[in-house]
Amino acid sequence: MTDTALPTSSTDLLDVPTGRRIVTAIPGPKSQALQERRRKVVPPGVHSALPVYIDRAHGALLVDVDGNSFIDLGAGIGVTTIGHTVGPVVEAAKGQLDSFLHTLFTITPYESYVRVAELLAEHTPGDFEKRSMLINSGAEAVENGVKIARKYTGRRAIAVLEHAYHGRTSLTMAMNYKAMPYGTGYGPFPGDIYHAPSSYPYHDGLSGPEAAARTITYLEKHIGATDLAALVVEPIQGEGGFMVPAEGFLPALQEWATANGVVMIADEIQSGMGRTGTYFASEHFGWVPDMVLSAKGIAGGLPLAAVTGRAEIMDASQPGGLGGTFGGNPVATSAAVAVFELLGEENLLAEAGRIEKRLKAGLSAIAERYDIIGDIRGIGAMVAIELVEPGTGDSTKKPNAAAVTKLAAYAAQNGVLILTAGTYGNVLRFLPSLAITDDQLDEALGVLADGFATL
Ligand SMILES: *Cc1c(COP(=O)(O)O)cnc(C)c1O
Repeated sequence: MTDTALPTSSTDLLDVPTGRRIVTAIPGPKSQALQERRRKVVPPGVHSALPVYIDRAHGALLVDVDGNSFIDLGAGIGVTTIGHTVGPVVEAAKGQLDSFLHTLFTITPYESYVRVAELLAEHTPGDFEKRSMLINSGAEAVENGVKIARKYTGRRAIAVLEHAYHGRTSLTMAMNYKAMPYGTGYGPFPGDIYHAPSSYPYHDGLSGPEAAARTITYLEKHIGATDLAALVVEPIQGEGGFMVPAEGFLPALQEWATANGVVMIADEIQSGMGRTGTYFASEHFGWVPDMVLSAKGIAGGLPLAAVTGRAEIMDASQPGGLGGTFGGNPVATSAAVAVFELLGEENLLAEAGRIEKRLKAGLSAIAERYDIIGDIRGIGAMVAIELVEPGTGDSTKKPNAAAVTKLAAYAAQNGVLILTAGTYGNVLRFLPSLAITDDQLDEALGVLADGFATL
């Protein structure tokens, strides 16, 4: 089925083609009818980037209700990192469905929750004692990370970086950089959140140590280290546009945080769980955070998130202070154990490097012909291009959101799902599952090249 030799199961017998196939207008008639029903009962604030209604999915292919199939370069925003409906994950979830669906870990616990915590302790950076708590969503992980850090430090302030994205709850909205659409009109927001300068090599031209010095100066002058509970950082920024920080930036911040009693938290919700070819992206930068947040890819598509931190930080909370009704649902934790096993045993991590090479080679070839591709960046199966106005590539690097919108629309019409990103909406991001084949990548890149030709 795929040339990545993913284990098979009954789900492989699903009628899912291996390539894109467009048989109707996009969206097709059945999707349009569903869209009409939806408009009457779902608010427009819950927006769908590509309103084709999905019937089934496998590997890196989505099939809609009209029979169109799409090469999926989004993976539900980096959630189905190991692929759609991968056998062992589906089987693990099915097995749990037959035993029990819920007990509430904080009432009567079960083994798979503990197993996920063991796997997180083993695979997050750092050789020290760790503890993990499980919740349902990325934003909930951020909320709990902040809460735990404040409890441990007894301090008030939280710092994040420019271009950050951390979620859609009240606290996390205040932690985001981009107001529209994530924050506009939803205030007032919680206070004591500070946005410090980040490392964005394409625009700031700073070395890692220079960028870190700038960030630290901001934190010391604007907040004061003794009032800062936590510094929350995405090792590679997700919604902001896949900015890979300059070498040395993250370890320098960690060193400063450690020296000043600040809890430094890696928001690995998008970059973690094998996405970049290591379990967690922090490893690429030699960064050992005090706390790691995971979510998106951790359970192969089921809702699960985790806060993993140094034992002394995590243990500062009183019994009953942490938890939540659905946190660490047994079906999701069983699936997560299977995801960890696949990443470890099937050498799936290595697929990220294959995907990065293929994507970057294809994108570089396109960039030779079109000067609006200002930057190609990313690690593993987390690659992006930043589009700029023609002729501005080397000077103003003026954002070109219009081209991004057109290219994403062109790709969708031609059976390739590509996500956009960026504070200025001028980034196309490629977040395929590790199951995507070389043929599928080439086909998608071909469609993208055709899209550039039509601009
Ligand atoms: C998606 C995301 C979140 C929020 O996760 P949800 O599950 O949508 O609440 C937080 N941080 C990062 C880096 C993300 O990519």
